[in-house]
Amino acid sequence: MRDPTSFLRQEYDDLVRQELDWRLRVLGGPSTTWCIVDGKRVLMFCSNNYLGLSNHPKLKEAAIRAVETHGAGSGSVRPIAGNMDLHTELERRLAKFKGAEASLVYQTGFAANAGLIPQLVGKGDLIVSDELNHGSIIDGVRLSQAERKVYKHADPEDLGRVLDESEKASPAFRRILVITDGVFSMDGDIAPLDKVAAIGAEHGAMVYVDDAHGEGVLGDGGRGIVSHFKLPREKVQVEMGTFSKAFGVVGGHVSGSRDLVNFAYNKSRTWLLSGSHPPAVVAACLAAIDVLEDEPEHVRRLWENTRYFKKAMRDLGFDIGKSETPITPVMVGDSGKAKRLSSRLFEIGVFALPIVYPMVAQGKARIRTIMNAALTREDLDFAIGAFEKAGKELEILPAERVA
Ligand SMILES: *Cc1c(COP(=O)(O)O)cnc(C)c1O
Repeated sequence: MRDPTSFLRQEYDDLVRQELDWRLRVLGGPSTTWCIVDGKRVLMFCSNNYLGLSNHPKLKEAAIRAVETHGAGSGSVRPIAGNMDLHTELERRLAKFKGAEASLVYQTGFAANAGLIPQLVGKGDLIVSDELNHGSIIDGVRLSQAERKVYKHADPEDLGRVLDESEKASPAFRRILVITDGVFSMDGDIAPLDKVAAIGAEHGAMVYVDDAHGEGVLGDGGRGIVSHFKLPREKVQVEMGTFSKAFGVVGGHVSGSRDLVNFAYNKSRTWLLSGSHPPAVVAACLAAIDVLEDEPEHVRRLWENTRYFKKAMRDLGFDIGKSETPITPVMVGDSGKAKRLSSRLFEIGVFALPIVYPMVAQGKARIRTIMNAALTREDLDFAIGAFEKAGKELEILPAERVA
């Protein structure tokens, strides 16, 4: 008899042969600037913990306190018996932080996209999506019965073209959803949300932004991309985000009108059918909002560090792409070379992962660095020195540079 599970091993072996498998690294302790990865002390240069909040004393204290007052788990899904005062307080505080009428917290950002998108649009509707949108948007789109079209990356003109063409459809589309990442995580560029929103409005479309990498980074006090472009709230009807990146914890969220939130929690299957966050998670997220409001220096330092690092890397002669954010890709081109650069950096003491095909186009391999507010000048100089040394060894930089 043939083993019905033999494909598991075969497909895994194929991935290993193509070097497309994930080899998991182990953090032995908290995600801090200097941390232990696979037993070695290295400088963290690729976490999404932009502001260092995941190990901030206020978040840790809040989590510990919540375990004492509310226990380890919530006991249920939120629509039945798992909706604690902490959950509703977090939504109230988040809405206030975002300047929105209401917010809804999901278990993860992935669950927010996968749960909400297929409810906003269905049969007879249209989704228009940026070609480089995040995988969780793509999966949300796949779960919808709506027709889907893609526009060229961050290209409002092409979005206009797609929407103009769609007006000719017969019968006319019932609803249209335009959806984009706020900050694109592979290149660190910012979506032209002002133009996207204006074109969407011209065509009577809803506009949905996934601000996972913009929150805690862009806008007034880290309020995100809508604040960055100073857009009136009603221009972007759905602002989605996550507590798992700059906020330093875990959890997805959606902000907008009260109507949106009432609709979203009554309809999203990922929200209705999955247990709610444990009290410690919710309390830590609440503390993260407190820190963002009370300690503006973290966002300021993140940008100071970003500018310092980008300038030094450019001065050394590295190609750092078109990033406008604390995500700085160090372009290498060849996948094998990007992997060797990452390994060499790790030996020297800098942890930054290579991003290779199929995550990015062939020939566009890179090391993706993510800046952290808690890095000191000394740390940054150490990292820049490591890139210079490894870059010369691998001939990504000229071996000898004339000053
Ligand atoms: C990380 C990320 C998500 C997923 O968020 P989680 O809360 O970690 O599930 C969604 N969209 C984008 C653009 C992301 O970068």
